Amino acid sequence: MDLVFSKEDLDFKEEVRVFLKSEYPSKIREKQEKGLPLEREDVVKWQKLLAKKGWFAINWPEEHGGTSWTPTKKYVLQNELAAENTPVLIPFGVNMCGPVVYTFGTDIQKDKFLPGILNSDVWWCQGYSEPGSGSDLASLKTKAELKGDNYIVNGVKTWTTLAQHADWIFCLVRTETTKIKQEGISFLLIDMQSSGIEIKPIITLDGTNEVNIVYFDNVEVPSENLIGEEGQGWNIAKFLLMHERTGIAGIATLKRELKRLKEISSTIIVGGGTLLDDQNYKNKLVKAEIELTATEFTELRVLSAISSGESPGPESSILKIKGTELQQTVSELFVEMLGYYAHPFFGDGHFGSNKSVGPDYAGPVMPSYLNLRKASIYGGSNEIQRNVISKAILGL
Ligand SMILES: Cc1cc2nc3c(=O)[nH]c(=O)nc-3n(C[C@H](O)[C@H](O)[C@H](O)COP(=O)(O)OP(=O)(O)OC[C@H]3O[C@@H](n4cnc5c(N)ncnc54)[C@H](O)[C@@H]3O)c2cc1C
Repeated sequence: MDLVFSKEDLDFKEEVRVFLKSEYPSKIREKQEKGLPLEREDVVKWQKLLAKKGWFAINWPEEHGGTSWTPTKKYVLQNELAAENTPVLIPFGVNMCGPVVYTFGTDIQKDKFLPGILNSDVWWCQGYSEPGSGSDLASLKTKAELKGDNYIVNGVKTWTTLAQHADWIFCLVRTETTKIKQEGISFLLIDMQSSGIEIKPIITLDGTNEVNIVYFDNVEVPSENLIGEEGQGWNIAKFLLMHERTGIAGIATLKRELKRLKEISSTIIVGGGTLLDDQNYKNKLVKAEIELTATEFTELRVLSAISSGESPGPESSILKIKGTELQQTVSELFVEMLGYYAHPFFGDGHFGSNKSVGPDYAGPVMPSYLNLRKASIYGGSNEIQRNVISKAILGL
């Protein structure tokens, strides 16, 4: 494994820093710094700025508007963006649907759907999970029956992130009831404006509407919106999940947050010193830092393997578990640091918008702590990732 950044990588790092200094909109930067909620327009504006620079669909092949960057270059960009606390990119179009369309779609489908994803003109959401079908995804029941030129879709999807903003949803649907449940599944793109779709919000612990239930009642979907062959959806689903797990560990963001923890705790007076001097607190912080460094090296090992032409393999499950556990640990350290200032929480339906009675940085801490309980569930629960590790790595 070669961990030395080339001159080209270091020059690129500088280029990103210069870009962020001049192009990161101050209004969005301020919201991010204060932990205030972003509007849809903020996210779209930021994604468009990156796209204009050619830094948005970095994992796509060049022929579809992506890049031919090395994994290290991608890593540099992601690190710099996270260090400056830029908005998290909405993954459903660029990281999930896009790769499916350019890999399995027809030329007509590529022409129709890829430009909207590349330019962030179309917001996508993911219709995989159903009540009763999460980890056991292949048991899904949402039915699509071909009648003439249309599929008629009936069923329920749940936990659909940001469906309230979405223009389109990519769905796994059952087109056939087969003995082997994976075989009767198809991959369908559905316009959220179609008649018969209803979205109901699920309000999570932090008081926000991040996830939803989406109902389909006799929704007509043109058969030309089927991706791949009918019944081939399970292979596409697995392909997409591989893309979903990429980057879920959030190492770069964790590095930024640990740095903030150190900075802030060094200003909080406890007894005769600062909180950072408190041995008990310091031990927890240092333990998190050590684990983060070890996880980062695992990520670098995976990157190194990818640059040598290998696939990420089951190590992505290790990254998912360790990364999300650390996200939760760091959010707990923030709560512990704040003491009683962490308690006040007057959520008004927006992530991070509680009115803190303590210092400015206190506001988003409790919503973030509550919100991050999700991290060990979504993208394939951590228990499922442990199953993957026990089979694929430990051979149990
Ligand atoms: C915040 C959030 C956002 C999400 N966004 C989306 C989205 O946009 N689109 C979408 O389609 N889905 C989304 N999901 C759904 C997510 O993929 C599922 O929640 C996840 O796959 C787990 O499924 P489940 O909730 O049905 O739990 P279940 O599968 O019912 O699992 C319940 C518990 O049992 C454990 N368990 C289940 N099976 C096993 C097993 N074989 N071995 C060991 N333990 C097991 C699980 O780990 C879990 O702890 C989201 C979830 C969350 C929390």
